[in-house]
Amino acid sequence: MNFKELGLCPPLLEAIEGMGYEVPTPIQEMSIPPILEGRDLVGSAQTGTGKTAAFALPSLDRLRKHGECRALALAPTRELAIQIEENFCKYGKGLDLRMALLYGGVKYGKQLEQLGNEPDIIVATPGRLLDHLSQGNLNLRKIEILILDEVDRMLDMGFIEDVTKIIQKTPKSRQTLFFSATIPDSVRRLSEWALKNPAEAKIDIKISAADTVSHALYPVPAIQKFDLLIALLKKIKFENLIIFFQTRRGTDKISKWLTEHGETVRVLHSDLKQRDRSSALEEFKHGKVKILCATDVASRGLDITNVTHVINYDVPQHSEDYVHRIGRTGRARTEGEAFTLCKPEELSMVDSIEKLLGNPLPRKFVDDFGYREERSSLAPPAPQVSKKRNRGFGKQVSFGGRRKR
Ligand code: AMP
Repeated sequence: MNFKELGLCPPLLEAIEGMGYEVPTPIQEMSIPPILEGRDLVGSAQTGTGKTAAFALPSLDRLRKHGECRALALAPTRELAIQIEENFCKYGKGLDLRMALLYGGVKYGKQLEQLGNEPDIIVATPGRLLDHLSQGNLNLRKIEILILDEVDRMLDMGFIEDVTKIIQKTPKSRQTLFFSATIPDSVRRLSEWALKNPAEAKIDIKISAADTVSHALYPVPAIQKFDLLIALLKKIKFENLIIFFQTRRGTDKISKWLTEHGETVRVLHSDLKQRDRSSALEEFKHGKVKILCATDVASRGLDITNVTHVINYDVPQHSEDYVHRIGRTGRARTEGEAFTLCKPEELSMVDSIEKLLGNPLPRKFVDDFGYREERSSLAPPAPQVSKKRNRGFGKQVSFGGRRKR
């Protein structure tokens, strides 16, 4: 199957060729035809599968010519909104369509200007969109296509009320597209309320590029976590590395300590000003800085390629987040390494990650590191995962219905 056979118009085919895409990805093959037909769709696919083009291309095809505010794409984070808008612009460069990008943490001026220019496509985060709506800067009465990206994340972040309000302000006759890495009950319920007889496009979550990622768990006493991080940084040869933290405070604290140790790092979390978030991400993406310290705001959705190493300073509290974090490395067939530092109190969370992966995480110790506790007391040996459950890192694992929060 090629893009032409999917029925996309010539300006889009040209843009796709310019991007160097040769064939549609599976999520694109499954999503583009029903969206072009005007059907609602629930797409379950994670970042890296080409899901943005899966909704952007057919939406652009349906819009084609300048009208007035006809598509709205909602994203949970500012970075993802920026990325979606960039994609719409790239794919739609041969079409006569105007864009507006609305997200919080920045002044209103440029956004008002874009809204005054009769945009055809609005990409927004829920909070700022509601601010504009309440100020009467736009209305959603002419929305024909409503896209919600990373719906599971949007609900995890507590946006359910905002999202519901926004959906209610769009016409019932709209086409609605939901994209979500996982489809827990909350997403299912929202989609049953908001979508009509949707087509489904499901790409099982891959233990991302995991055949190219080697995983390891580093048990360590809580008090020595930072020292072990420093020891690991000396030991590993990373080109670029994301260190994930559970909290914003933790991210700030450890990045400060790293700086005091002579490391150059950038920080990405939701308490920072948008300007600082964008520049941290840009500098990291372009290789100006090799270490990014981040919360899960960077674990999903963002198209950050060529990350050679991921370190979880904290064991992720939800096993799916492990997969999303690890998905930052080993992309595009490059080798990656993923290390998780684990204090004894976090072992129970490791258990649920291993259950999800169907594989134990190999326990490792840094040879010349002076552990203050017996290694055997820090971590019992990795469990034997039964053959039936052991699907291997390289295989596909479905998240459907697994998530309990
Ligand atoms: P996404 O899952 O939307 O974040 O996309 C991940 C990456 O895949 C982006 O860098 C896209 O430019 C790229 N991509 C999307 N569709 C294709 C395709 N059909 N062929 C090759 N690369 C693609």
